[in-house]
Amino acid sequence: MPQELGAGKPARVLLVQDDPRATMMISEMLRAVWSAGLIISQAHSVADATQELLDHGATCVLLDLAGDPAPVASVQQLSGAAPHTPIIVLVERDDEDFGVEAVRSGAQDVLVKSELTAAALGRAARLAIERKRSEAALALQALHDPLTALPNRALFLDRLRVALDRSRRTGVPVVVMFLDVDGFKAINDTHGHSAGDLVLTVLAGRFGRLLRPMDTVARFGGDEFTFLFEGLESEQEAALVAQRISESARQPLAIGDSQMSIAVSIGVAIVGDPEAALEETVRRADTAMYRAKELGGARFELFGEPAIHTPVAGPDLEPALRQALDRCELRVHYQPRVSLAGHTGLVGFEALVRWDHPERGLMEPDQFMALAEDTGLIIPIGDWVLEQALDQVAQFRESRPEVTVSVNLSPRQLHDAGLLDRLTAAIRRGGHDPGVLCLEVPETAVAADPEVAARQLAALNELGIQLAIDDFGTGRASTRDLQRMPVHILKIDRTLVSRLQDGTADTDGIGAAVQLGHALGLCVVAEGVETDAQLAALRDLGCDGAQGYLFSRPMPEEGVHSLLGTR
Ligand code: C2E
Ligand code: CA
Ligand code: CA
Repeated sequence: MPQELGAGKPARVLLVQDDPRATMMISEMLRAVWSAGLIISQAHSVADATQELLDHGATCVLLDLAGDPAPVASVQQLSGAAPHTPIIVLVERDDEDFGVEAVRSGAQDVLVKSELTAAALGRAARLAIERKRSEAALALQALHDPLTALPNRALFLDRLRVALDRSRRTGVPVVVMFLDVDGFKAINDTHGHSAGDLVLTVLAGRFGRLLRPMDTVARFGGDEFTFLFEGLESEQEAALVAQRISESARQPLAIGDSQMSIAVSIGVAIVGDPEAALEETVRRADTAMYRAKELGGARFELFGEPAIHTPVAGPDLEPALRQALDRCELRVHYQPRVSLAGHTGLVGFEALVRWDHPERGLMEPDQFMALAEDTGLIIPIGDWVLEQALDQVAQFRESRPEVTVSVNLSPRQLHDAGLLDRLTAAIRRGGHDPGVLCLEVPETAVAADPEVAARQLAALNELGIQLAIDDFGTGRASTRDLQRMPVHILKIDRTLVSRLQDGTADTDGIGAAVQLGHALGLCVVAEGVETDAQLAALRDLGCDGAQGYLFSRPMPEEGVHSLLGTR
């Protein structure tokens, strides 16, 4: 009987069934054909099964639809909850129309119960599992270039669409680069096509290593590569990146017994206008690339007028922010963090500051954090947030003793020599347990100065507080640097999470991040989780925790109290 069914880690079969006799019969059949390592769990209703799938997942679902008033809806619900798990439907009698409908709704197979044998069930389960697996592999292939394993044009455009949507909301420009290898045809003609392939794979590897996980490089076609960047701070930074890309291409490359150096032409488009369409964005970068070629190649050119400008907070904002603390205009909101390991449950909150400006209303950190950081006001503001968060979490813990609170540290706070003393004093003053506090430090701050970060984090670690690397994927911290940080949690930035769209297999960045985090012994938390599909994919990838609008938006402390039922 199928060896594969028992090989490797134990399989979890979820039986959705409320007839005890049928349950026993089917369990016996499964045990007869499964060689080892089989866990059978049972759910009495589709609702219970959905919860079970979200909590624990399954290798395969057997769904008995006897007496189900809405069979198709049930199949849809379960396949939505676990898009990567095969579902086999069991029916009373053969009905081809229903069978087709069930498969369209996400089922892998439909079996008639009265005709069921152990062998047939085992075979169906095995094929369903394999079919799902190859479906996933195909989806992955459809989005990647087979030669270089880079994302292909379709995946690039998909990511660009997501990035442009975000840019429309945040006003932060997107940078697209279009790269074409100079004289690629000559390489193919002189050295043969396999040499051409080699050049493309080597370049792909070099480009990949240059980028942050949140950036994308794709093979757009032939000898064309495209790049996507979000959050580049200035035109100069974009130019610097283009410079680095072309330098990496220029590094010597051995082909046959000759050494060559590859020159590339790059067009850079900085897209700041919210209405720019997808195709238009790529076309601008392409146009700039052609100009670079016309100018002799081996260079980069910028499309049109520069569009990156740092949004000005307004001259009146600085004195107002100075007074905001004294005037009690700052607020702290709390966003729940849940655990995905085992049962989904609340484990803590992240404290996020807001400014209730008398004229502008409630302002989010994006609108005043840079100013606070530049002026140094982040130091007193940060201290205040810490004290608030510590006091609040003590109250939350009266009803939920296990919850913790996370507070963000900006680069300037991380470098502040007085932080440790003031934090120690605050913890002592309030009589707090340091273990209830977690400090989140952005990856960019760690990467900018690993030496100082490691020293400061070690001292904070001594205090007994938890530490997290925040916004992972937005910086270029090396694995070696990360290894040196005495941290406990890795928080994956929401840019990576936002790419886990329905139906795509765009899990490259996150999969790698989860693996890296686990290899470093860290608890991996995803931020910005907005959809069920993202949640299901994160579970599949083994993510330990999550945070995002799907669970809750950040809320004022009263909101937390009503959530916890304490007031
Ligand atoms: P962060 O540390 O990455 O915080 C998470 C941000 O993501 C929060 O934005 C939160 O509201 C938002 N968010 C949470 N779930 C979702 C979701 O599902 N979808 C989307 N699109 N967004 C989600 P917020 O509150 O605007 O904070 C922005 C940043 O400001 C924070 O990013 C953090 O870096 C900084 N910040 C906030 N409060 C403080 C503070 O007290 N001190 C310091 N130093 N920085 C702070
Ligand atoms: Ca954070
Ligand atoms: Ca973030």
